[in-house]
Amino acid sequence: MNAPIDMTVPPKMKAWVLGDPEQLTLVDKDVPRPGKAEALVRIDAVAICATDLEILTYGTPALIEGGAPFNKNFTPGHEYMGTIAALGPGVDEFEIGDRVTVEIHAGCGQCKRCRMGMYTSCHNYGKNYGEQNKGHRANGFTTDGGFAQYAVNNINTMIKVPDTMSDEEATLVVTAGTSMYGLTELGGLVAGESVVVIGPGPIGLLAVAVAKSLGASPVVLVGTRENRNRIGLELGADVAIDARNEDVVSRIKELTGGKGADYVVDCAGSETTVNQAVHMTNRGGRICLAAFPKKPVEFDLGYLAVNNIYLYGIRGEGRSATHRAMAFMAEKRFDATKIHTHTFPMEDLPTALKYARERIDDAIKVVVSMKDTHAAAQAAE
Ligand SMILES: [Zn+2]
Ligand SMILES: [Zn+2]
Repeated sequence: MNAPIDMTVPPKMKAWVLGDPEQLTLVDKDVPRPGKAEALVRIDAVAICATDLEILTYGTPALIEGGAPFNKNFTPGHEYMGTIAALGPGVDEFEIGDRVTVEIHAGCGQCKRCRMGMYTSCHNYGKNYGEQNKGHRANGFTTDGGFAQYAVNNINTMIKVPDTMSDEEATLVVTAGTSMYGLTELGGLVAGESVVVIGPGPIGLLAVAVAKSLGASPVVLVGTRENRNRIGLELGADVAIDARNEDVVSRIKELTGGKGADYVVDCAGSETTVNQAVHMTNRGGRICLAAFPKKPVEFDLGYLAVNNIYLYGIRGEGRSATHRAMAFMAEKRFDATKIHTHTFPMEDLPTALKYARERIDDAIKVVVSMKDTHAAAQAAE
């Protein structure tokens, strides 16, 4: 038995809030209270995502009270894990002291897409205020997120973390869940099919790991950074192609008996990679678009149509793919910690963001730990 856990919830907490673009300030905020079907999570670690950087600069895809998230006392951050500190009325699915990691979107639970399990495409995105309150929650996007000591989560968004998994690794489950959603829930991948991943960022690298764990063969990674391609090989890629020195499309054809890949996941979203993806896909194959390019991209639509190639975008996780990603990671089917490169304390969030943005010291996943902040708060009581 573990020692009893002291989860006394203080009235106030430290939280980073977004002012003007790029302007984050550490403030004291009220600790939120969980409602029906919700729990209060004491956040222990939060990973930084490229989408956080996008929100800080452009505001989108965050949406607070119907508009940009600036100067609204909004706390970003969405890839976090922690310990349950309080339960809302009637919640018996979790206990205080449970370690959990979270998926981001709870959705509204009532629209057509939420009813299909596609809660990341909820029709009521951001509608959680005023007269039209539909209860949509996507922490770090439409509700307060993880760059704080506490956050409220819907019980459907929480997944128990095994004792054998570190806090840092647990923050990566939602990234693996996003890769899994693209490959299996939306893509229908089964064992023995070939998968190419273009772009070895966090989602791309974990797509390699997930595809390999699901029995895809061969699994090929295309990238331009040697160290990232090497990590891809460690995570299960059968081949890593350096796009700077090789003709990517003909290499893929060669590796797939001249036919092309059954699945291509494009995590780069540039004109070059989208066209490579089109031309390296097998007839009747599928292309999953996982990047959010800012500008329109021109691509060979005719080739796509003539060859019966399916094209689909993904946004975030869905259909409980994050729960399945946790099942794989708990079984140690792959070692997601290979993409975790740096950890900073909560007070150093701006430095952590700088490392992630500028890829300082080859940063891939940068994690912010709240441990010291919680300890200092407890010592001060
Ligand atoms: Zn993210
Ligand atoms: Zn919905």
